[in-house]
Amino acid sequence: MSNFDAIVVGGGINGLVAGAVLGRKGKKVCIIERADRFGGMASYAVDGGPSLAHALYNLSPRALKDAGIDVDRATFTGQQIDTVSLADDGNHIVFKANGVYWNDGSQHPQSKAWCELIQRFKTYGGLLRQLAEAPPPGGHSASLSRARLAEMLRLAKVGIGLKMLGKSEMRRFLQVVLSNVYDIVLDDLPDGPVAGMLAADAIRGAATGPRSPGTVFNLIYRLGHGGTITQPTGGMTAVVDTLVDGAKAADCTLLPGTEVSRILVDLDAVTGVQTADGQTLRAPLVLSNLASPLTSQLTGPSLFDIEATRRIRNIRARGTAAKVNLRLKDASPLPGLKSEQKDARLIYAPSADYVEAAFNPAKYREMSKAPVIEALRTEQPDGSHWVSAIVQYAPSDLDGGWTQEAQDRLAQITVDTLDCALPGLREQITDTQVITPDQIATATGAPGGHWHHAEMSLDQLLTLRPANGISRYAFGPKGLFLCGAATHPGGDVMGLAGRNAALMALEVQK
Ligand SMILES: Cc1cc2nc3c(=O)[nH]c(=O)nc-3n(C[C@H](O)[C@H](O)[C@H](O)COP(=O)(O)OP(=O)(O)OC[C@H]3O[C@@H](n4cnc5c(N)ncnc54)[C@H](O)[C@@H]3O)c2cc1C
Repeated sequence: MSNFDAIVVGGGINGLVAGAVLGRKGKKVCIIERADRFGGMASYAVDGGPSLAHALYNLSPRALKDAGIDVDRATFTGQQIDTVSLADDGNHIVFKANGVYWNDGSQHPQSKAWCELIQRFKTYGGLLRQLAEAPPPGGHSASLSRARLAEMLRLAKVGIGLKMLGKSEMRRFLQVVLSNVYDIVLDDLPDGPVAGMLAADAIRGAATGPRSPGTVFNLIYRLGHGGTITQPTGGMTAVVDTLVDGAKAADCTLLPGTEVSRILVDLDAVTGVQTADGQTLRAPLVLSNLASPLTSQLTGPSLFDIEATRRIRNIRARGTAAKVNLRLKDASPLPGLKSEQKDARLIYAPSADYVEAAFNPAKYREMSKAPVIEALRTEQPDGSHWVSAIVQYAPSDLDGGWTQEAQDRLAQITVDTLDCALPGLREQITDTQVITPDQIATATGAPGGHWHHAEMSLDQLLTLRPANGISRYAFGPKGLFLCGAATHPGGDVMGLAGRNAALMALEVQK
């Protein structure tokens, strides 16, 4: 039997960050991961293909810093990449940091409007980032503790930031942040590929369409860290390796390939965990990288009252993003792209209406016949070349289930869609991998294989994330905390949920 100050159940991005933050505060920490490798959803891959996650949109420098990782020296920083919106007529559009261009290099007529819109969203994103870098407000007693003062200061800063926007812009922020991305974007832009790209970025990983309420929030959430998109050098494996090194440097004990079968509780306080291979590890603090339904199964549901159980059961987490990896026969450039676009992020979303139409079948548990795709070309360590594609919508609860026939159909639809815009791609493909949301759920435990473990909808954000009453990481018995993507501020390869949860656990323990 081993004794620790804290045990982290699950070594996804958030579990690794949480462990490193606790370790750096002098805690003796053990991180237990069921899979043989760390990284969870971010690094999950099959048969040498690309990992589920392929780009960094939202990695938090604050989380890295608190995990002891020097952001500037991080080996994976990689290169910022442009986005190319693919068009069936070959007239692709390129989004760069400074504007939107046609494929021939001339400026797109909507470039100025796009820049203004993105700039406004980035300003709003900066405000949301301040909220993301702390637990959701509330939960302190009326007394002026240090934590309460810090929270008041933080909220005051957000308030000042809002005030600095000016009266009309502040009103616009409050209107925009709760709106659907379709209406807000089409206020400033005609529908077409520029609007389509923004709509696609807003719904990525979500069970919503651009007309669904609150979808602007998702877009702004991803712009909170500046909106740059990076393909990490060495892929997601390098990102995860750096976090593993951070946890080791913080003296964490790492146990890969070990499943936690029980979180032990005595007299309403956690005492440790039991593993499936029969080990008992003791600690007065347990942080769970798993979502609340699985965590409550590990403690035993009897520790939660009926109201809490009902809230946990009602958390919505319906995965809609599948991964389709296309193995290429060699390193030749993709047809129809210029050489400088070989590493670009490719988006297939010709208009906001197209994205909304892609969502319609998912409402009825069907896959999109004309999907929204985000694709990157990657090279794996064994030298193989792939197109790594995130395909929506592929609902976890597909009518009839994800049979082999359904998987083949999704692969076919993906290849057909990309081949229309990049004619000749089909001939370059030698093999196809499909990873469906239900496979993701089985492999990682993420409910419904959901990108964020729980939908990022207005009723499941901030003080309501993942549910009312359990939004500040503490969960059920004393000493148990949630630290995964289902908690505030949410998922992506970001790390803030893990970092916030660790800091909250330390504060509560004081
Ligand atoms: C198809 C897809 C593509 C994505 N692409 C991107 C992308 O390009 N960029 C991006 O920023 N985000 C992307 N995401 C989202 C991102 O990967 C996740 O939001 C993030 O990785 C979640 O991290 P986490 O640590 O909270 O949870 P997870 O990664 O789910 O980690 C949970 C961990 O707990 C472990 N575990 C489960 N049960 C047990 C147990 N009983 N005992 C021990 N361990 C256990 C699991 O094995 C897992 O490692 C993508 C998601 C999907 C589904």
